[in-house]
Amino acid sequence: MKIKGVVVRVPGKVNLHLGVGPLDPDGYHEVTTIFQAIALYDDVTVKFGASETGIVLALTGSTAAGVPADSTNLAYRAAALMIERYSLTPDLSIHLKKEIPVAGGMAGGSADAAGVLAGIDALFELGLSRDELERIAAELGSDVPFSIAGGIAIGRGRGDQITPVLSRGSYHWVLALAGSGLSTPAVYGECDRLREGLDISRPQVNDAMMQALRAGDAQAVGSALSNDLQAAACSLRPALRLVLDVGMDYGAYGGIVSGSGPTVAFLVSDEEKALDLTVALSASGVVAGVIRASGPTHGARVIETL
Ligand code: ATP
Repeated sequence: MKIKGVVVRVPGKVNLHLGVGPLDPDGYHEVTTIFQAIALYDDVTVKFGASETGIVLALTGSTAAGVPADSTNLAYRAAALMIERYSLTPDLSIHLKKEIPVAGGMAGGSADAAGVLAGIDALFELGLSRDELERIAAELGSDVPFSIAGGIAIGRGRGDQITPVLSRGSYHWVLALAGSGLSTPAVYGECDRLREGLDISRPQVNDAMMQALRAGDAQAVGSALSNDLQAAACSLRPALRLVLDVGMDYGAYGGIVSGSGPTVAFLVSDEEKALDLTVALSASGVVAGVIRASGPTHGARVIETL
């Protein structure tokens, strides 16, 4: 029997390391980053639609409010790209159940786009390899290939050239959420402003982080967390420094603004510490919400066929 639809589960991410190079003439920055997929998911359902309706997008879930359901949504653009590239019947119904914070530096939109790519691949039985999916993903945005891959990976170029990292252990994160998002281009712009007149070298992989991951040493991973965009995110949103202080005073192994922020991710030793820090952050009054999630976890994966 032919399948009618698929549900794809896609993870959010934190950046354990984000090195940002100088502003290139094309307006972009070369980055070297280390991503970790965390167990905080959006579920993307892709079904054959009624005929001649085109792509119909609907959103639900705790973080769906305010996210556009039109052709500007990255999930919609992913579907349009696949339809064009593989000459598919254009009638699709897509449902995003969103739990990943929006504009939080956790690649929520990228996750949804990755879910649509993997969903269409399964629904139309295209049989694309992970590499092929990651190549198409790179056309949609720098974080989309990692959302396909999951696990822990180095991202080079614009973050879209993915190499998996062998690592041990599992990591307990406490995510401090802000009431409103930060725009990624605005944070890069502020980074350029803060660096004016400085000689910025090309971004490198963080060796201390790689070693800590190989050893599965969470404490060393915590100490090696680094993000070249953190100063810029804190400059635009000074309250983030207070959030970082609360977590570090509390004894987290490390704390970092995730990607372009404003989510702040704290690495702690175990689930009990994670619960304690959740309570402390909630009581501090400096965060809008707190989520716990462990990592690494899988990339875009079909969890159900309909
Ligand atoms: P990144 O970590 O990749 O920089 P982010 O997590 O900071 O991304 P997103 O949640 O992807 O940011 O959203 C950024 C903006 O993109 C939002 O303001 C939203 O309006 C728009 N957007 C488009 N499609 C989506 C989607 N499917 N989910 C969330 N936001 C989307």
